[in-house]
Amino acid sequence: MMQESVQGLSVAATLEVWEQGAGRHPLDQALLLLRYACPEQPFEVLCEWTIGRRDAHLLALRRQTIGDRIEAYAECPACRNGLEFELSCAGLLATAATSDAVWTTVEHDGRSWDVRGPNSRDLASAITAADFEQARRIILSRCVRGGAEDVEAAVWAQANEAALAGRLGELDPLAEVLIDLRCDMCGQQWQALFDIVTFFWNELQARSRRLVQEVDLLARTYGWTEGEVLRLSEQRRGLYVEMALS
Ligand SMILES: [Zn+2]
Repeated sequence: MMQESVQGLSVAATLEVWEQGAGRHPLDQALLLLRYACPEQPFEVLCEWTIGRRDAHLLALRRQTIGDRIEAYAECPACRNGLEFELSCAGLLATAATSDAVWTTVEHDGRSWDVRGPNSRDLASAITAADFEQARRIILSRCVRGGAEDVEAAVWAQANEAALAGRLGELDPLAEVLIDLRCDMCGQQWQALFDIVTFFWNELQARSRRLVQEVDLLARTYGWTEGEVLRLSEQRRGLYVEMALS
């Protein structure tokens, strides 16, 4: 994979992304960020990247924009105690699947199936499903083929569905990142889902709000335009903000 060449978001790009993506569905926010991470790729191609591949590039973008260390927070499902934990973008990237093959053959229940990791289009088609089961069925009908004979969604037994959904997860480990946690108050152990899209989007939102406040302060204090303020380096902007506040 080529996440290494991903460039971080500039302050101007951060504000642009935030403005374009505010209030939109996380699937759209993810694709918007991906366009900035991979400007050389056509949008159609980005929509067909598996979720794991998408998230690997978002982790690389987050690392270049904010840094490697992720400080996350979860609540114990048993006693509601708050728990802070740390992750690293590089550590999560190390679990990414390296194969770019689209279809892979897996054996299950004495027959072969062609499966591929779900992509943004698959998830978009499942958004309208009435419940989780229906959503899973929509994704499986798009991402699993019955080898030689094509298999109707209706012939899938419940067991087959669950097993094949599990195989999709194995093929694309980054598509669902589960973190093992243990509560230090009550000892409860559980797995929390870490979603880079929501996490990174919240960070960018907080960063954008702060940037706009800094532009406002410096524009009023020194008479600079937004463009002039955003062209300052982070260090220099920080110093001016300090002086304007003193
Ligand atoms: Zn607890």
